[in-house]
Amino acid sequence: MNRRMLLIAFTLLIAGCKGNFEEKENASKKDAKREKTFPVTKTEEEWRKELTDIEFYVLRKAATENPFSSDLLDNKQEGIYVCAGCSTPLFRSEHKFDSGTGWPSFDREIEGNVAYDVDYKIGYKRTEEHCATCGGHLGHVFNDGPISTTGKRHCINGVALNFIPKE
Ligand SMILES: [Zn+2]
Repeated sequence: MNRRMLLIAFTLLIAGCKGNFEEKENASKKDAKREKTFPVTKTEEEWRKELTDIEFYVLRKAATENPFSSDLLDNKQEGIYVCAGCSTPLFRSEHKFDSGTGWPSFDREIEGNVAYDVDYKIGYKRTEEHCATCGGHLGHVFNDGPISTTGKRHCINGVALNFIPKE
């Protein structure tokens, strides 16, 4: 972790404390609202404890891992890719393809387990995707995937996933 990351971590910690204080004031109201949104709901503090730094920034802060940094990028084993936050199965190995982008890519998700949103973070409209169970950010979906199958490219942060080999 470099100095800048530490600074961000520190800032988030402060923000986290503030958030908790406010939450106590009307906890029941907020909890009810969050439960309705995602079946698995945790406070920022709880996620920080459970996840590694990079997992936290990607899943909970929608950061993007560096391309070609994921161990799962070249993984060709048969199995299932699950959410690194809550273990919900998200993608299957048979739908993984080499997109050349440096991020693990799939032509489809496990239906119902991934939810979508729209973001304009880098100046144009993109379809953001996240775990439908815990809301963890996974990546984005684009329409330049393999035309022989779905035409979709789910561009996923490897750090948001854990791989469970078949058997
Ligand atoms: Zn999840």
